[in-house]
Amino acid sequence: MKRIRIKEVLQTSGTNQEILVKGWVRTFRNNQFIALNDGSCNNNLQIVVDFNSTPETTLKRITTGACISVVGNLIASQGKGQTVELVCKTLEILGDSDAEKFPLQPKKHSLEFLREIAHLRFRTNTFGAVFRVRNALAFAVHKFFQEKDFVYLHTPIISSSDAEGAGELFRVTNFDIANPPKTENGEVDFKQDFFGKPTNLTVSGQLEGELAAMAFSDIYTFGPTFRAENSNTTRHLAEFWMIEPEMAFFDLNDNMDLAEDLLKYVITYAFTKCHEDIEFLSQRLLEEEKQKPQIERSELSLIEKLRFCLDNEFERVTYTEAIEILKDSNHNKKKKFSYLIDKWGVDLQSEHERYLVEKHFKKPVILTDYPKEIKAFYMRQNDDGKTVGAMDILFPGIGEIVGGSQREERLEKLETRMKEMNIPTEELWWYLDTRRFGACPHSGFGLGFERLVLFVTGMTNIRDVIPFPRTPKNCEF
Ligand code: ATP
Ligand code: MN
Repeated sequence: MKRIRIKEVLQTSGTNQEILVKGWVRTFRNNQFIALNDGSCNNNLQIVVDFNSTPETTLKRITTGACISVVGNLIASQGKGQTVELVCKTLEILGDSDAEKFPLQPKKHSLEFLREIAHLRFRTNTFGAVFRVRNALAFAVHKFFQEKDFVYLHTPIISSSDAEGAGELFRVTNFDIANPPKTENGEVDFKQDFFGKPTNLTVSGQLEGELAAMAFSDIYTFGPTFRAENSNTTRHLAEFWMIEPEMAFFDLNDNMDLAEDLLKYVITYAFTKCHEDIEFLSQRLLEEEKQKPQIERSELSLIEKLRFCLDNEFERVTYTEAIEILKDSNHNKKKKFSYLIDKWGVDLQSEHERYLVEKHFKKPVILTDYPKEIKAFYMRQNDDGKTVGAMDILFPGIGEIVGGSQREERLEKLETRMKEMNIPTEELWWYLDTRRFGACPHSGFGLGFERLVLFVTGMTNIRDVIPFPRTPKNCEF
């Protein structure tokens, strides 16, 4: 007999058919009712066991966490809470679970505790929902780009360049770190290292992405990136997944249109595909917020927030306009920001981004044309000599979710800027070659996948939307 997944079972009507199901026991009530879950959805299938005809030894082994296989008759349920139930004919224990030792008790656990048992947290309702939504979003990203004929490009994980020049790098080496080979001057001799030069884990696939866009026109990457972020925040991971499209012939406006379309498309997809999970997560968030004081609670529920984001056009504002708004805000005047906004040119902190989105515009915002001093070397210089064609998309509760720009395609301007910023032009000869051979206006952006999953699931800590988070002092599992 072929196993049927519980999601499918729950969608059929109980018409006395014999079926086979397998899964993990969530609870076992009165030696009679098993709530069985197989991860296909959050709802459990109720299995009715006849304790008179079931051996005592078997009954004892039906414990929370145990894995079982059941053949039974699917019938319409008389009880409340479910439409069908399975009357057990034969039950086999596939894997025991010692109820005394199993860390997941059928009660509410804190998210912090569940992080410590991340290997088991998939078996809770919250994480079941979160990771099914994550899966739907990942699929939707590919679907969106494939429907537009973008080429999915695998950019390298090991790299010898630091795309951002930010220096938050994880080094890659096969040296014995305690005792690396040295040159005559006593410096580490990277010529003898595996790649013959210093290497690191990639912080972004953008530079390589640009190379491919100069042949395929439209490409995207979707892969892991690594940053030795020292900041221990709820929005930063040391290992995260990024989506980086790069488009030839796109200016900044085309770039913003694409990013907005992408976000709306994937949110809509997840919303439709995982409606029950998102309902559940919306309810979860409501419960969580009840613990908070009234003023800290969000005005909108998760579902309302998603709808709101889909139904409104993102507000497009220049950095200069945003600084004026922030400077004149009551928040700034009453010194409620940790970093007060006093002049043009300062970098925005997440408190400012969130003020613009949550308090001022009350919808997603795209900030454009930042001062060149606070942005990367490859962003296209505007005619004013002060700003670059950058665009960041800011989301409620998240802050920056997308960072992008039109790229500087003019060789001379690019080289000058690199020199000003101490970016080695010799090492990036291959990048500069694209500006020598058939350069064109082009644009791209990076979407942090976990920040997107945070937004759609309404979770508040980025550690809860990636299966096994890597953060400072934490690399368990
Ligand atoms: P932030 O200011 O929030 O640190 P950033 O300016 O460093 O972001 P970019 O270099 O533009 O970010 O990276 C593109 C996108 O990748 C960001 O918009 C964000 O969604 C995501 N991102 C960046 N750093 C991290 C991180 N450490 N963990 C998870 N996502 C990240
Ligand atoms: Mn950063």
